[in-house]
Amino acid sequence: MFLNLCQDSNALSVISLAKDIIRVIQIGVPIILILMCSIDLGKQIFNNGEKSYQKIIKKMLAATMIFFVPMLISLFLDLLSIRDYKMTDCWSNSETTTISYLKAQEKALDEKEKETRQKEKDKAEKERKELEENREKIRKEHEKAAEEAKKNNNNNNNPSSGTVIYDATLFNENGKDGLVDVVNGEFFKPSSGTSGADGTKGSGPYGYNIFFYNRLKAFCDAAKEAGHTVNMSTSVDGAWRSYARQKYFWDCYQKKNCNNGNLAARPGTSNHGWGIASDLSFSGYNAKLWAHDNAAKYGLKFPLCNNIRTGDCKEDWHIEPYVLKNK
Ligand SMILES: [Zn+2]
Repeated sequence: MFLNLCQDSNALSVISLAKDIIRVIQIGVPIILILMCSIDLGKQIFNNGEKSYQKIIKKMLAATMIFFVPMLISLFLDLLSIRDYKMTDCWSNSETTTISYLKAQEKALDEKEKETRQKEKDKAEKERKELEENREKIRKEHEKAAEEAKKNNNNNNNPSSGTVIYDATLFNENGKDGLVDVVNGEFFKPSSGTSGADGTKGSGPYGYNIFFYNRLKAFCDAAKEAGHTVNMSTSVDGAWRSYARQKYFWDCYQKKNCNNGNLAARPGTSNHGWGIASDLSFSGYNAKLWAHDNAAKYGLKFPLCNNIRTGDCKEDWHIEPYVLKNK
């Protein structure tokens, strides 16, 4: 504290002012006293009575002391600072040159700090802009895809006009549900761990991940509006699926003696077990076509079907989020 004070230009300015005042007193007061002595002396000379020089001697003594005592103090302090000379010495630091030097240093420090802060601010602003640009780019891409999908629909004479396009809300999808992270509409599932284990359910109905469920809901509602029936699964098999159920399906798939021997993921790896897959049911072939033509618009895809029209599909009912990655 003391050390800092003796290197602080403001504190030193105060000390410097005090030094100036002392100097004025040191010189001014003795001059006044000497003047007074001269007047007294004059009076005494022209005084015919008894002469008294006591007063004059006292004043002269006072003048001498006032002139010399501060000088002695200053000398004493100077001697101290010579023996132990440091920039922390308040007395010797409180000189105009030192003060202006310190002031310049403080100013330089201030400016450097300001510059650093400005740089940080610029960097943050740049990052924010980049993020925004990226989002805008993704948004435009989705808009374009939706536009094209709509055009294709019109070409197919598919009555999908009036349906709600889900893209607008896609970009507000951020958060964790179950063990799945959703970042700007992209789904990230755990790259390890056991799907279908305890704690893997989403918070949506039937254990679905809530973001996935919202898409499914909008998708099924739109199908209805277009005159089709497309239903998401509400069962323990077709919605969120436990590890035990998955093991049952896996055994069926291996032994081909149950569940039609249908394809099943190895237990602990199915996306059903993260709440991000659904097995749909359709009112008919046209409903199925509509679903496959429009899934992308709702942020959904059928990963086990290459082409619904040529029948190049392993499972034309199994639907998942459009962008699904490992964490
Ligand atoms: Zn499935």
